[in-house]
Parts: sequence; structure tokens; C-alpha cells
Amino acid sequence: MSQLPLRAQLASALGRTAATLSRATGRGDGSVIGGRVGLMLEPDLLRKLAADRKLVLVSATNGKTTTTRLITSALQELGDVATNAFGANMPAGHVSALASNKDAPYGVLEVDEKYLPEVLDTTNAGLVCLMNLSRDQMDRAAEIWLLAQKWRRALAGRPVHVIANCDDPLVTWGASTAARVTWVAAGQRWREDSWCCPECGGPLDRSGFGNGGQGLTAAQMADTNWACRECTFRRPEPSWVLDGEYVTDPRGQHWRLDIQLPGQANRANAAVALAVAETLGLDPARALPRLRMVASVAGRYTTVERDGRSLRLLLAKNPAGWLEAFDVADPALPIILSVNAQGPDGRDTSWLWDVDYRILRGRPVLVTGERRLDLALRLAVAGVPFQLCDSFEQAVGLLAPGKIDVIANYTAFQQIRAEFGRAV
Ligand SMILES: [Zn+2]
Repeated sequence: MSQLPLRAQLASALGRTAATLSRATGRGDGSVIGGRVGLMLEPDLLRKLAADRKLVLVSATNGKTTTTRLITSALQELGDVATNAFGANMPAGHVSALASNKDAPYGVLEVDEKYLPEVLDTTNAGLVCLMNLSRDQMDRAAEIWLLAQKWRRALAGRPVHVIANCDDPLVTWGASTAARVTWVAAGQRWREDSWCCPECGGPLDRSGFGNGGQGLTAAQMADTNWACRECTFRRPEPSWVLDGEYVTDPRGQHWRLDIQLPGQANRANAAVALAVAETLGLDPARALPRLRMVASVAGRYTTVERDGRSLRLLLAKNPAGWLEAFDVADPALPIILSVNAQGPDGRDTSWLWDVDYRILRGRPVLVTGERRLDLALRLAVAGVPFQLCDSFEQAVGLLAPGKIDVIANYTAFQQIRAEFGRAV
């Protein structure tokens, strides 16, 4: 890429120094502080660092970090890729990601949903990938319809190519002002936020009434198709269709998503990654082996060992995330649930009442975390037997050696990871 102006070079170098110092003093991976220092010295740094690259922005409520990782892995087949691998998904994290790999011709950036308009405007990214929108952190997050509306305004009148999940009505609405959209039927498990038409407020019907979706069985058509009863807003025709373990590409060829990351949510992420890769000239035959190489993402899906127990770590930050974790968890295994309510988790735990925990009946359930009593009450009302534990350590000790699933929300997950080693 072309040489940065002197001021931007200096800002970028000082930002990297700050990041190194931050790491050396044990204050995290340094990507945010480094980026902040860089932006302070040169407010236009992100724009300069983004110029002359092929950039992909990835946004959604759930799956951003994983999809960013999958797309990055695929594009490494084509060349060097700069990315914010540690989930620092606001502009300071983006500066740090691009500054630490200045010559990479590709960039894949996870972007917080709220920041998407600003980051798109600053970076002029050519590709944007939008997967799902659902309720998240009730005391902090913007209302999701407003987020989708901001996306619409940001995408309108811009030469950007969007890859979007047409099974999520709100994402479809948010993406549909873009000049060019490739629709991926990637599925939608959590539907509690999509009963109403985002365009007119009318009821959305979810029944098979045949507006495309080749490759889907009749049952799946009935399951995934949607349309507003009162206006013309309806599911667009997908170019890519995820069907269980298989994805169908725009030429009608089926590809088996035999990736290491478990669960249907990750197959949806992989389908989107394949669509992005193809847009950049990488066909599924070359991209798929790269997706298979990803085994865990920032500790998620990692198995850690302790005293003869193998603990598989699953992260769930919001109701939709819990459904995804239930899909991955093994019904034959005991499960430890850990819930905190610190700043990054959101202080309000009322979302626990949106999750249907009855699926856990019949397996040993141990409850821990700072807000274990909130979760305990929720489980009691749902009729799920459980054991309350004062600490994660105690919960592990109560279970016999063997395999155990763990579902934790954000800071609870980070605490467990810190204690059991930071496998990536
Ligand atoms: Zn409508």
C-alpha cells in the first residue's frame, strides 16, 4: 500500500508503542489503548490506514467475532489480512488492527453495530457483512429498530456491496437501501424480535408462499420464509442458502460445512464467510479448507482440562446467544451456567426471563457467577432442577471427572478463561 503521510506514520508508530507498553504491563492485549493514542495524535488516522485496502466490515448482535475470524482465515488464501482478532470493535481497535499490519492488502474488521455508520463513512469499506439483530444489554444497547434505521441511512447512496442474512427481517430492512446486496439465507433461531414488519409495523407471516429459496425443503421454506401481511416488504430471494450442514452457492452447487466450530450458528457464520470470500474472488473450493482450520475463537468453544474434567467453554451474552449455546451443548452432559452483571455484561439481568431454560431439564445443572441468584430464580420458575454454587471452582469440584459444558456471559467467561488459561 502507499506510504502514509509523516504525521500518520508517527501516530501509528506511537500507537503501536503504547500497545506494546500496555501488553508489557499486563493491561490487556493493548489494541484499544494503542488505537486511542494514535487517534489522539492524528484524528484522521483510521481513514489513512484504511485507504488502498480491500476492507470488509462485519456487524451483527451475535457472531461478529467468529465471522470476522472465519472471513480472515479464508482471505489469507489470497494474501495478508489485517484484523481486530481480539474483539476490540470500535474505532480505536480498528486503528490498532490496521496499524499493526500496515502492508496487508486486505482488512477484515468486526464493528460494533452502533459504530457501523461512522466506521463505514471513515474507512469507505467496499464490503459490509450483516448477520442478525436481536435484543442485547437492555440498559445500554440502542433499540434495534433504530440501529437498523441507522444502517439504512449509512448504506444509502454509497458504492458498497452488502452481504446480508435475509432470514432476519430486521437485517434485511437495514441492508436493503444498499446499491448492491448479496442475500444469504443463513437462518434465524431467535425470532422474538421479528414479529413485526420493520417497514410498516404490520404482522410478519412466516409461512411457505414460494418467493424462491431453491434448495430448501418444503418444511424449511415454511420455516424460514417471511412476508409482511400489510405491505410489500418480504424476504428477498437468496443467492446462498444454508440447509443444515450444507450451503448452496449461487450456481446451485452444494458444499458441506464440515467445520470444526460447532453448532448451526457457526454454520451460518461460515455460509456468510463463503459469500464474502467469493465476492473477493475466492471460490468455496479454496475458502472452505481455510474455514475448517478455525478451531476456537477468543477462547470460545475451547476445551480446558482441570483435575480430570474437560470443560468446554461457550459464551452467551444475550437471549439469542443462549439459544445458540443450547444448540451446541450436549444434552447428555452436566452443565455449569455462570452469569455476571458487570459493565460489559449489562447491569440489567431481566433478559434471563426471555430465555427458555426448560431444554436443560434432565441434565445436572450447576449455577454460579455473581448473579447466580437471578439465574436460580429463573430456573426455579421454569421447573429446571439445579444446584447453587458459591464459585466456579466449587461447581467443577462437585462434578465427577469427564466432560462438562460451561455457558457463561461476557465477564463470567473472561474470569473462567483467566483462571483456566488463555487458550485462543
Ligand atoms: Zn409491512
